[in-house]
Amino acid sequence: MTRIRQSLTPKIFAALGGRRAFALVIACCACLAHAQATEAPKPVAGVCPANVLGTSRTLTLGTQGGFAIGLKTYPHSLDLADHEVVLTFDDGPSPSTTPKLLDALARQCVHATFFLIGRNAAAYPALVKREIAQGETVGHHTFSHPGETLRLMSNEAARADIDKGFAADDEAAYGKVDYTRDSTGKSEPRPRVGFFRFPGFADTPQLDAWLRSRNIGIFGVDLWASDWLELTSSAELDMIMTRLDKEGRGVLLLHDSRRSTALMLPRLLIELRMHGYRVVHLVPGAGPPPKLRAAPQGWTSETEAILAKMTPLLKKEAGRSALKTKTRSDMSEPGL
Ligand SMILES: [Zn+2]
Repeated sequence: MTRIRQSLTPKIFAALGGRRAFALVIACCACLAHAQATEAPKPVAGVCPANVLGTSRTLTLGTQGGFAIGLKTYPHSLDLADHEVVLTFDDGPSPSTTPKLLDALARQCVHATFFLIGRNAAAYPALVKREIAQGETVGHHTFSHPGETLRLMSNEAARADIDKGFAADDEAAYGKVDYTRDSTGKSEPRPRVGFFRFPGFADTPQLDAWLRSRNIGIFGVDLWASDWLELTSSAELDMIMTRLDKEGRGVLLLHDSRRSTALMLPRLLIELRMHGYRVVHLVPGAGPPPKLRAAPQGWTSETEAILAKMTPLLKKEAGRSALKTKTRSDMSEPGL
């Protein structure tokens, strides 16, 4: 069974530099099938050769009261030192790429954060378990990665997709889901790792406040690889290093689902080491978040500008989807 759901999120990103993003429409939200998770090469715990990048330090991020970081969207980010980088991978797991990423990370003794799509996690729990076993951090990225973005859904539907994602990810990762009760007594999943990233960075004030009230930290990014575009691995690598050299540090967004990224990652890790970059591994903590770095004066949200540009298209596409759903539903009614 192969079922492919289209997403408009890449169109948002494509507005940054090109229109050749349709591959990501598939890759970003695909429910991939007919593939098996490969076995992990077993990293030797605590033993890293001297000539690898290695994880420089582990940063414990308390999520009590929530937070929102990532300068592309929010006026704060992690207080990283110069040349410190956090690696994050969205939209996985994917049998064709996730094992390659994990192999590359293990070879260089580097840890990253994976923001999972819940339905992919449910389809490939072995890959999620491998991420956990390898010491990676597993965060959340909704259940369905809705093409119209959470912003254009009802608040209730958006919450349901987020909660379904929390539950699917934790079930895949740990084999169980912890539940708690909200202020009205309704049961809701309490994710073991309270890290969340909005698809397309399309948050809303209501959802932000709701997540914060549940002690969930919201992740934007400081820089991205633009790997939603059809780039060669070399071009992608050059782009990342150029951006890193300009910014000097930051939370980097890559896509778990992208073949070019899987091919590029081993070279990226070598380049990072050669250029003196150090990788910081994020783990969740129980307390409040650490001190954050404020955006420079004159900061504006880059993603908000992109979303404003793309919202009419997103609305149009969402309307088309609704119409299709209604038509299918009507046709299934007896007598119609
Ligand atoms: Zn995504």
